[in-house]
Amino acid sequence: MADSTPSVIAPTPDGVDQFFWDGVAQKRFLLQKCTACGALRQPPAPMCAECNALEWDTQEASGRATVYSWLVSHHPTEPDAAPRIIVVLDLEEGVRFVANLVECTLDDVRFGLPVELTWVEFPSMNREAPQILPQFRPTGDGG
Ligand SMILES: [Zn+2]
Repeated sequence: MADSTPSVIAPTPDGVDQFFWDGVAQKRFLLQKCTACGALRQPPAPMCAECNALEWDTQEASGRATVYSWLVSHHPTEPDAAPRIIVVLDLEEGVRFVANLVECTLDDVRFGLPVELTWVEFPSMNREAPQILPQFRPTGDGG
């Protein structure tokens, strides 16, 4: 790993988001989908906010999205060589998702920037195995 690659704390799924992290381990980007009304929900929740049903399944997301908003994160005690760009994304499927934006400078971030999913391995602070995380990068098609 390059020196600029930050370490991350591996996630501790709490039950309702177990499916998401199981998907991440297989590089599958899964969204929770209500089986009663078909509504997607993100972040994962036990009950559908649209119809109150408890039954759900998963749907694999395309990984295509646009930037809704962003901020720059500076580590509070160990400044990163390159501060992270945290984005709120509008996924193509119609729900929002928070992730890191990679392969992009702050000067190039803008509202509506088209981005795509990429899988990145980070050293884990609390586990031996590296942690794979979904990240997003500009598609490069200009949008
Ligand atoms: Zn529903």
